[in-house]
Amino acid sequence: MQEALCYERVDDDAVRCHLCRHLCRIAAGKRGICGVRENRDGTLVTLVYGKVVAESIDPVEKKPLFHFQPGSSTYSIATAGCNFRCRHCQNYTISQVPPGTTQIPGVLRTPEEVVSSAIASGCRSISYTYTEPTIFFEFALDTARLARKAGLANVFVTNGYITPDALDLIAPVLDAANIDLKGFSDSFYREIAGAGLDGVLDTIRDYCRRGIWVELTTLLITGLNDSDEELEGLTRFIADELGVDVPWHISRFFPTYLMTDRPPTPVATLHRAAEIGKKAGLRYIYQGNAVETGREDTVCPGCKTPLVCRTGFRVTGVRITADVCPACSMVIAGRWARYPSLPGS
Ligand code: SF4
Repeated sequence: MQEALCYERVDDDAVRCHLCRHLCRIAAGKRGICGVRENRDGTLVTLVYGKVVAESIDPVEKKPLFHFQPGSSTYSIATAGCNFRCRHCQNYTISQVPPGTTQIPGVLRTPEEVVSSAIASGCRSISYTYTEPTIFFEFALDTARLARKAGLANVFVTNGYITPDALDLIAPVLDAANIDLKGFSDSFYREIAGAGLDGVLDTIRDYCRRGIWVELTTLLITGLNDSDEELEGLTRFIADELGVDVPWHISRFFPTYLMTDRPPTPVATLHRAAEIGKKAGLRYIYQGNAVETGREDTVCPGCKTPLVCRTGFRVTGVRITADVCPACSMVIAGRWARYPSLPGS
């Protein structure tokens, strides 16, 4: 157990947590919405420091990141807890910590152990993922700083609700993030995730402003977030405010957890969304959870040369080793040049 960062004492031994945009006011003896930050007599503590509940070696494409160290492995860790309540969470067994939970699950690890394991397994990066990395911020920050010194990159896979102050602390050692943009209506966000759309949009802007490499993911759910109007708004936001080079991953929903009343998303919906994204000007649109030839490949927007070919999360060929297309010299946004030993290159 460790004292938390990013909080202030308010009144009557209560504290206000400034780690995520919920800004929980937490009375003495209580926990915040995430269930893993507790007020002990006016001191906010994190209950998950070093308590690793999931640890695995993944292709970086699984995060998904398609323009960042393609073909490399990333050492993925999580602790229990999340600040969202997504009804369709795929990792609900570890993300949801019910109120009153006394035994937070996990195996104790130090930041040094995580970094050593990542290096020993040949990974190029550490990903803070599966649950929400913001809620295990202190452990992620200590690990990320060590990882950076050891030459590893750091990746957040996040719901995009961190405060600007907390992001300022970790941004100097954070290389990339895949951020969920779950939909484009506030009512959808509030009903499905228990959070607000504006906070997510502001957070995405914050990541981009700080120069962190960002890719976005939208899980399309029939009848909830897949209307033409909503997708037009969402893709215009990306194109107009973030830039047409931000990769957009559109992913197929399958029934799970508390959302078993919706059918799997038809593949045709993904195709329709991709067309809307193209009309908005987005250059890199990728399909997820539905393998179809060509729909996961990175293609030069200028001359249409395939630059990275993929099947599912597997990279089958790479023709790009610098930040330009080898055929026409068009600049291809991403973090390619630092990682030259790629399959097929
Ligand atoms: S990190 Fe947890 S305690 Fe802090 S504001 Fe977010 S939900 Fe509340």
